[in-house]
Amino acid sequence: MFIDTHAHLDFPEYKTEVSAVLGRAKEVGVGRILNPGVDFDTSKHALDIARRYPEVYAAAGFHPHCANDLDIESKGQLMALTNHEKVVAIGEIGLDYYYLKRSSKYSHYPTREEQIFCFEQMLDLALETGLPAIVHSREADADILAILKTYKNQIKGVIHCFSGDYDFAEKILDIGLAISVTGNITYKNPDLVDAIKKIPLGSMMIETDSPYLAPEPLRGKRNEPVYVVKVAKKIAEIKNIPLAQVEEETTKKAMKFFGIK
Ligand SMILES: [Zn+2]
Repeated sequence: MFIDTHAHLDFPEYKTEVSAVLGRAKEVGVGRILNPGVDFDTSKHALDIARRYPEVYAAAGFHPHCANDLDIESKGQLMALTNHEKVVAIGEIGLDYYYLKRSSKYSHYPTREEQIFCFEQMLDLALETGLPAIVHSREADADILAILKTYKNQIKGVIHCFSGDYDFAEKILDIGLAISVTGNITYKNPDLVDAIKKIPLGSMMIETDSPYLAPEPLRGKRNEPVYVVKVAKKIAEIKNIPLAQVEEETTKKAMKFFGIK
């Protein structure tokens, strides 16, 4: 069995199709799917889906793009969601400076300071609840590392959609975090491929980040959990090991990490 540790089944891309999407995943052995939220409403929607389908689990959190929607009330509401046994992580949370570094037309995105405030609030929630954190890092690796270092040995965390080089991977592993790999390993990126080759399989989980990041040759199309098998196949190819080994070890890791059965 494979586990897709990151798929936004609650996004409008799937509308009424969730059952069909889960059916296609099950057919190829994708037996568990983790649906993270990006704010309170999406976290609640993720939990609604998890309550409806036994194979789906949820995570609750505020994505850096939604940092300004976090206030005392929504933090309390989010905290209440984590009491449900199918909420197995705080996520997705993190820092995303991609738009900040570009055109001023993106000026409505939360600033660096606003994102850091929200990220730290979310890490504190991970600390309080004992749940692992699913961390998004885009063009913000130095700040991510500096902040996570201050929580070292206090919380469990995974860098989702890993897209860095081995130097960044080593630093992540050094502070005890796990690494989650998406379909972007099928895109042409020699540094990423080199990192995948060297990162121990025991520290890895797999994900689709659906509806985004469909693996080649489907790049640009709507992604879905069925394609997490393509991610596993690519890891097997890069590491020159059997697919069954990737399946077994990433599933074992994800079950233990998120406490899912
Ligand atoms: Zn995501």
